[in-house]
Amino acid sequence: MLHKIFIAGEWRKGRGEPMVSRFPADGSVNAELNAASRDDVEDAVAGADAAWRASSWRDRVPHERADILYRVSDLITARAPELAALQTRDNGKPLTEARGLVASAAATARYFAAACETLEGESPTQRSRDFLSLSQYEPLGVIAAITPWNSPIASDMQKIAPALAGGNAVVLKPAEATPLISLKLAELFEEAGLPKGLLSVLPGRGSIIGDALARHPKVRKISFTGGTSTGRHLAHIAADKLIATSLELGGKSPTIICADADLDQAVKGVAYGIFSSAGQACIAGSRLFIHRSLYDQAMQRLIAITGALRIGHPETPGIHLGPLINNKHRDGVAAYVDRARQEGGRVLTGGEVPTAGELARGSFYPPTLIDGLPHTSAVCQEEIFGPVLIALPYADDDELIGLANDNRYGLAAGIWTRDYRHALQLAGKLEAGTVWINTYKKFSISTPFGGAKDSGLGREKGRQSIHAYMQQKSLYLGLDATPISWCD
Ligand code: NAD
Repeated sequence: MLHKIFIAGEWRKGRGEPMVSRFPADGSVNAELNAASRDDVEDAVAGADAAWRASSWRDRVPHERADILYRVSDLITARAPELAALQTRDNGKPLTEARGLVASAAATARYFAAACETLEGESPTQRSRDFLSLSQYEPLGVIAAITPWNSPIASDMQKIAPALAGGNAVVLKPAEATPLISLKLAELFEEAGLPKGLLSVLPGRGSIIGDALARHPKVRKISFTGGTSTGRHLAHIAADKLIATSLELGGKSPTIICADADLDQAVKGVAYGIFSSAGQACIAGSRLFIHRSLYDQAMQRLIAITGALRIGHPETPGIHLGPLINNKHRDGVAAYVDRARQEGGRVLTGGEVPTAGELARGSFYPPTLIDGLPHTSAVCQEEIFGPVLIALPYADDDELIGLANDNRYGLAAGIWTRDYRHALQLAGKLEAGTVWINTYKKFSISTPFGGAKDSGLGREKGRQSIHAYMQQKSLYLGLDATPISWCD
């Protein structure tokens, strides 16, 4: 039976091309559906625009909007095992990681509910006794949210929750590979009592449905997470329409092991930073810089740790890496490793597509450690989005900062050192939106997140990120009852 999609508050068969959601661990079919068509985009945006204006959603006082988000958070928590299992089927993440993403989605809904009910306008300092001025925030209208496949339940909620909290309507376009968890979220919002039309979920091809959605004249903001070239394309559309856009894009993040690092902590942190989620994370620490004085020692430990990581079926307890999203993506990762070999790199662990047993049936790729390459090589410069770590030695801080910043991306960085003064000096010089010191890949919904350079524009998370889905309006209230003397 065809899975339905959610258009303006109704579950319908999509009118677009057939789509299949597959389990990346063995290629089996999770669900078949029809993608949204351009007419479905039209219906979803029209429904969103009408619901936003007419349902009095925009006029509800914030704590009433917050009620829906609290209810959604409770529903996610109550159904966490089911949602984690679905997330794993959709994109192949190990169940433990999927559970973390589900918990994060529940926390995000709760956080923006609380932020929404406590968000305040401002009363600017009075500049005259004749009037009082007020600064208020209003919703933008219909938001196009476009998300990738690697952490869908968390990235969807990171857009839906602040947008709804700000009084907007959302039309969500999930990635082709992972429609199911986004459609499940729509069910939960419906159950929580979100008025019809305020959320639609339109699976389909980015170049057709995502593009049509972004270009729609009634869409007033594009909130995008995904690759840099897609982000640039959407930024052009937003510029033509003169609408706001926020872009969470790719990365090639450096992690640094300083001469005085706690080596045991550092190498375990580095391995987690690149190989968890099988490297399919925008913030994956994929370039490793090790101080020359402990390079050999650190690499020996890293080879041992990497070689012992368990790769397997994502539903098996205790595995570290599940499959990549599909065979096409896996083959792209393998091609990068072949290129590294051609450019003279030494592949120290992994580096071969598994051809036997359970792993041969899915889109698996082993954790791969490479060194011996110049920093100008393609694998050092380009985002691979897989379990591939490139290690390089450095001599001093000047060389380190020069190399670490010699990349088009600027999403994140990691520093391992016992000296916090030194760490703060390095952090100040690194071109990155987030710097972790003696930890990696830790997240807090209350702390802003976003990229520098080709890693993006704007910030998500944090109380103030609701303002990214609102526009400011100034009001002046006259206090002087006498007519303006100009006409006299
Ligand atoms: P992608 O850019 O190919 O696709 C992302 C989304 O955009 C999908 O829904 C896709 O269908 C849609 N899309 C594609 N072409 C489009 C077009 N022409 N018009 C409108 N929409 C279009 O990225 P992906 O392969 O799904 O995800 C991987 C990328 O996402 C990596 O580069 C990763 O670093 C990045 N990412 C960034 C963050 C972050 O917060 N910075 C988080 C997760 C992933």
